[in-house]
Amino acid sequence: MRKKVVVLGTGFGAFSCLKELNYDIYSVTVVSPRNHFLFTPLLPSTTVGTIEFRSIIEPIRNVRKAKFIQAFCTRIDRTNKKLTCSDADTGKEFLLDFDILVISVGEITNTYGIEGVEKYAYFLKEAADARKIRTKVIDCFENASLPGISEDEKKSFMRFVVCGGGPTGVEFAAELHDFIEEDVEKKYPGLDYDIEVILIEAGDKLLNSFDEKLSEYTLKIFKRQKINVKTRSFVTKVTEKEIHVNDGGHFTYGLLVWATGNTASRLIRDGDLPKDIRHKLVIDHFLRVAGEDSIYAIGDCAEIPDEPFPVTAQTAQSQGKYVGRLLNRIARGKEPKPFKYKDLGMLAYIGGHKALANMKQYKGSGFVTWLFWRSVYLTKLVSLKNKVLVLFDWFKTFVFGRDVSNF
Ligand SMILES: Cc1cc2nc3c(=O)[nH]c(=O)nc-3n(C[C@H](O)[C@H](O)[C@H](O)COP(=O)(O)OP(=O)(O)OC[C@H]3O[C@@H](n4cnc5c(N)ncnc54)[C@H](O)[C@@H]3O)c2cc1C
Repeated sequence: MRKKVVVLGTGFGAFSCLKELNYDIYSVTVVSPRNHFLFTPLLPSTTVGTIEFRSIIEPIRNVRKAKFIQAFCTRIDRTNKKLTCSDADTGKEFLLDFDILVISVGEITNTYGIEGVEKYAYFLKEAADARKIRTKVIDCFENASLPGISEDEKKSFMRFVVCGGGPTGVEFAAELHDFIEEDVEKKYPGLDYDIEVILIEAGDKLLNSFDEKLSEYTLKIFKRQKINVKTRSFVTKVTEKEIHVNDGGHFTYGLLVWATGNTASRLIRDGDLPKDIRHKLVIDHFLRVAGEDSIYAIGDCAEIPDEPFPVTAQTAQSQGKYVGRLLNRIARGKEPKPFKYKDLGMLAYIGGHKALANMKQYKGSGFVTWLFWRSVYLTKLVSLKNKVLVLFDWFKTFVFGRDVSNF
């Protein structure tokens, strides 16, 4: 009888674990509200149509040997090894047994409880979020083009605000800049003078986790691209029409994208598995949840207390791979070896065909690094289909520009 492994999630951690598991040894079930894997590093490119949504997602049902259930896990009963799940569509509840559990549920966007953010801001975590942003960006341009619109109304629709100067906020601002630079004049003539892109960051620099020089370079490039970066500034309240900031000022806006970091999902926050002060599951060097021998946690939702790793796709992916191999080793009666993290560094796109590379061997910026950024992500995409589609999208955007159809 094969042991039952349940994997929670279909993100970077879960997907790479599923690729490693030996299905002759284990009967594997995947539970996630999302029936696809999403390649998040290229998600900002989909918000303005540089890349299409389906080019960076891979259906989880392509992993044919694993059984997939489209549901949220809402409770983990570690004593009886049972999961309470809720169908992602109807909300119908059911129970699921496991012998071994791999938790890779990621985190959710942190709103810090700021009034109006949940209701009026747009998040950028899922393909559905990117689709909403793309629709809204185009709506703003269409609304600003309406006859009889006042100058003030036009300026409001054309004010795009990004909150958060980490990689997600910076990359979204960069993509928006490219769209404005390369497509707006042709498709929305006369609007380019009214456009304003504001990036609000609470700290005193952008891309905190990058080298100081790269962070300064980004600031310089954003200035040149007329992106208004407001550091040491934070949003205190959002209403349907206005954003209020800490200096007491407020301004109208067309779109607010919220990318200020993550926090634990309800499953982790409200569950009784051991957590640290940041509500991350506490794991040991074999990525087992503290005190448990058959529950593993990987990726954004977990942390080894004395060895915190960067919260990146790379970490989740290598942890998923490790757990898949570890379980196969254990089944063969082999001694488990602790997880070792190899930092490959970080990349970010900053617009205008310029990117940053923050790696041990190479710290670079500019056009050549942009070519490097594109080639790295092209090779990292998880299927041949994705690689072909992304290449085709880049070519299509270069030749025909971005598609501004709204539907
Ligand atoms: C826009 C954006 C750009 C990024 N760019 C980069 C980058 O360039 N480089 C980089 O290294 N990292 C990047 N990241 C970070 C990277 O995506 C994460 O670190 C990585 O996805 C973490 O993997 P994970 O498996 O822990 O979680 P995720 O990939 O977030 O997956 C979580 C999974 O769990 C599922 N889930 C959630 N709740 C439940 C539940 N209750 N029950 C079952 N399933 C559940 C979700 O549906 C999802 O399938 C980016 C992130 C974003 C949002």
